[in-house]
Amino acid sequence: MDHLHGKAIIASGFHTTRRGEIDFFQNALISLGDDGAILSVLRPHDTDYDEQKRRRKDAGRLVTLPKGSYLLPGFVDLHIHAPQYPQLGSALDVPLEVWLQKYTFPLEARYADAAFARKSYRLLVDDLIANGTTTALYFATIHQEATRILADICLKAGQRALVGKVVMDNADQCPDYYCDASPDEALRGTEELIGYIRSHPANAGALVKPVVTPRFIPSCTDATLEALGTLAKQCGCHVQTHCSESDWEHGYVLERHGITDTDSLDRFGLLGRHTVLAHSNLITSANMDTIRARGSGIAHCPLSNAYFSSAVFPLKAALEKGLHVGLGTDISGGPSGSLFDNMRSALFVARLLESGVDPNLGPAERSRHSGVWIDFRDAFYLATTGGGIALDLPVGQFSPGYQFDAMVIDTTAQHGTIRLWDDLDSSENILQKIIYTASRSNIAKVWIGGRDVLRSSGLK
Ligand SMILES: [Zn+2]
Repeated sequence: MDHLHGKAIIASGFHTTRRGEIDFFQNALISLGDDGAILSVLRPHDTDYDEQKRRRKDAGRLVTLPKGSYLLPGFVDLHIHAPQYPQLGSALDVPLEVWLQKYTFPLEARYADAAFARKSYRLLVDDLIANGTTTALYFATIHQEATRILADICLKAGQRALVGKVVMDNADQCPDYYCDASPDEALRGTEELIGYIRSHPANAGALVKPVVTPRFIPSCTDATLEALGTLAKQCGCHVQTHCSESDWEHGYVLERHGITDTDSLDRFGLLGRHTVLAHSNLITSANMDTIRARGSGIAHCPLSNAYFSSAVFPLKAALEKGLHVGLGTDISGGPSGSLFDNMRSALFVARLLESGVDPNLGPAERSRHSGVWIDFRDAFYLATTGGGIALDLPVGQFSPGYQFDAMVIDTTAQHGTIRLWDDLDSSENILQKIIYTASRSNIAKVWIGGRDVLRSSGLK
């Protein structure tokens, strides 16, 4: 194990602190404190560089990445349904409202079985770390024990995680075999999970945080939504839920409350600086203003949206309005647990939105949008710094005070999928190739808070 607490690493790599701008650093000296936070980032031309490098080396506290390896910030996945991992890559043939009842609720109900939960959650957390996901925002299930097991597993694996007991107490919309018994029980379950995670003996550094998690408005009663809004304020916890995902869900809330998801969640006190709204495809311009005013974040889930939503999230408009946006895999609505795949999907759907898709229309009529496409710099920002900002956590970039959550991309890995040409590829183009072509086999190392967390490291 190659933990970096109190050490320094010399690395070349990429990060972004502002959308649209890539910082390509070469042989930077990144020094870490004993708590895994970044103390300083020095470049070879900085005054202290040689002296600090020598001091760390003399103390046996210097790690150097080999040539062809690039350091990237770990990814922040803003939307994962942990219990749905067993159906990743399947159940993609029906609309959301059918998918929930036919496949998803029966699967999630199985997490009443702690042994099943332990096996499934272990595999998920290991796989996500291997994919470079260092911070994960998880929906669990309604079950207390299984949700605690997920928090335990994240702590043991060393993954930065936010874990929520899902609240579903509206008997009209939830099956009788998978429903909180009462509003009181839904609330109590949430409170007990908050207490469990915050007082966990292995969680002194708050690596894992509890999240207030109403599944979405259809699954919750008004009394419970209101109580959760009050609880979120009292406990200062993060909040996560779904927002205006599909026509059915968006229409349901309009019919029940006469207002959009955004306005309804706001009325219940559920929109705050630490709220992350999944999807938000059908939000209006006024909704965006409200979300921005509250400082809430949005999990853009481009791959899942292609299967379960009826629209492409207006990403560029949200970014230009200054909303906090990151990426979500939405396991298993999105059939990939990799944020590389989701960066590519974000790029891809933005291109289709820009160009239009109907060949029966002429080029002038085919698209109603212009200027909505993004490039690899934006996608990289969303998966790293954007996710960190949405969660209000010091992750996603290599800056002093930030946690050292990072991955090493080995561009020379024989079984990897990146092929670089020395005379053709340099600087930002290397990052572009990494984003478009990297696979799990290229991820040689993953650190979270300076802790080496990848089980089968390819590097010494
Ligand atoms: Zn979801």
